[in-house]
Amino acid sequence: MELEPVIGLEIHFQLKTKSKMFCRCKNIFGDVPPNSAICPICLGHPGTLPVPNKLAIEWTQRMGAALNCELATVSKFDRKHYFYPDLPKGYQISQFDQPLCGAGGLEITVAGQRTTVGITRLHLEEDAAKNTHPEGAKYSLIDFNRAGTPLMEIVTEPTLTSPLQAKIFLQEIQRIARTLMVSDADMEKGQMRCDANISLRPAGSTGLHPKTEIKNLNSFKFVAQALTYEIKRQTEAWKQGVAPETQSTRGFNSKEGVTTEQRSKEEAADYRYFPEPDIPPFEFTDQQLGTVRANLPELPLKKLTRFMREYDISEQGAAQLIANPGLASFFEATASELAQLDNEETELTAKEVAPLVKLSLNTILRQVSDLADYQKITPANFAELMVLVHQGRVNQGTIAHILQEMARTGGDPDHVINTLGAAQVSNEADLAEHIAAAITANPEVVDKIKAGKEAALQYLVGQVMARTKGKANPKIVATLLSKKIKL
Ligand SMILES: [Zn+2]
Repeated sequence: MELEPVIGLEIHFQLKTKSKMFCRCKNIFGDVPPNSAICPICLGHPGTLPVPNKLAIEWTQRMGAALNCELATVSKFDRKHYFYPDLPKGYQISQFDQPLCGAGGLEITVAGQRTTVGITRLHLEEDAAKNTHPEGAKYSLIDFNRAGTPLMEIVTEPTLTSPLQAKIFLQEIQRIARTLMVSDADMEKGQMRCDANISLRPAGSTGLHPKTEIKNLNSFKFVAQALTYEIKRQTEAWKQGVAPETQSTRGFNSKEGVTTEQRSKEEAADYRYFPEPDIPPFEFTDQQLGTVRANLPELPLKKLTRFMREYDISEQGAAQLIANPGLASFFEATASELAQLDNEETELTAKEVAPLVKLSLNTILRQVSDLADYQKITPANFAELMVLVHQGRVNQGTIAHILQEMARTGGDPDHVINTLGAAQVSNEADLAEHIAAAITANPEVVDKIKAGKEAALQYLVGQVMARTKGKANPKIVATLLSKKIKL
C-alpha cells in the first residue's frame, strides 16, 4: 500500500511592537536583564486590567490580508486555562472561536509547481514567560520580560504533502512577515516558532488519521528533518499494522535527528476557554478592513518576479535582495537613479545602464549586508560610484574601501576617491615603472609567457596590482605587459 503524508503547520510570530500586548511594558525580551520589563499587569496581579495593543491587532489583520484571509468584522479575546509556572495568571489571553482572521491561502512554488497552501486562521495572543532550567541545578529560572508580549499564531490546513513544501511555505511566510515589518521572524531567536502536524494515509484517499504533533521546531532545516523522520517512522508503523490510533505529541532531538514521545496533548475542552470578560469584542467596518487590504505593500513573490523581469537579474540575486526589505528598496532607488542617467548629459545609453544595475546588485549584496552601517550613503551617490567603476575611474577591488569612507563621511564618491587617492591608474607613464619592475623581478615567468603560456601573464598582472595597492587598471596592465614582453 502506498502512503502519502498529510502535513499542517502552526506558526507563532513574535510581533515587534514597542510595547507588550496588554500593558505598557516595553517589548524587549532578550535585550535587557531578566525581569526588568515587567508590571503588575503582565505579572498577573489580582485586580489589574488588560488594555489591548492596537498596533498588534492591525498587524495581525495586515498579515491576514497578505495571506488572502477573511478579515473578521467581529472578533474577541478568550481565556485559555492551563497551569504552568511561566503563566502567572493561570490562563493565557488568546482567541478561540472568533479570531481576527479566518480562512485564506498562500500560493507557493515548489520545484516549478505552483500550489496553494490553505490557511485555517490567524489569531493574536500573549506569549508566556521564559523558563530556563540551568544544567545540574535544583531550581528553574523564569524571565517575565516575555510574559504578555504579542504573539501571532497562523494555522494552516493539512494541505502540505512533503517536508520540502513545508520548508518553502515557512520561508515564504517569513519573507512576508519581514516585508510587512511585523516581526523579525528569526527562528533561531524564537521570534518565529513552528509546530508541525503530520499523519499518513493511503495514497489517493481523503480521510484524516490521528496526527502527530512535533513541537518547537526552531529552524527550517529541523522542520524538514523532523517531518522526514516522522514519515519514515509512521510508514513502518503502518506496514506493521500499528498506525497511530490517537493523537500524540513529540519533540525533535536535532542532535540525533529523531522525534521522541512527549506528554499527551490537552483537548480543547481541557483549556476551559471562555470569553475574556475584561476586553469587550471588537467590531470592524468593511471600510476599515478594506483599508487594511489597500495598504498592503508589494508582497515578496510578486516583487521577486518583478525584479527579475524589470532589472533582468537572477532569481537567486533577487531572492537575496528581497530577504532584506531595506536593501531591496535601496537597490530600487539606486536603479531608478541609474535609469535617469540614460540621457544626453552623461552619454550613457539604456544598454550601458543595464550592466550598471547588475553591478549595483552585486555590490549591494557583497558589501552592504547591514544597511544601518551605510545610512550616510544616498542612492544617488551609490549610483554615481557605480558609474565611476564602470568608466574605469576606480577598481572593483577598492570599492569596499571607498564605500566605507562614503559611509563615514557622507561624501560623494568623486570627493572620496580624490581624498583617498583611490582613483584607478590607467596612465601608461604612471604604470611603466611598476611594469618594468615586475618583469625584472620575475624572469622565469617572462620565459613561460614567451614560450606561449599566456596564463602566466595573470601572475605578473597580480604583481603590478600589488605594487600599485590595487589601484592599477588590470586590463591596461595586461595589455602593456604583453606588449613589453613580446617586443
Ligand atoms: Zn507589563
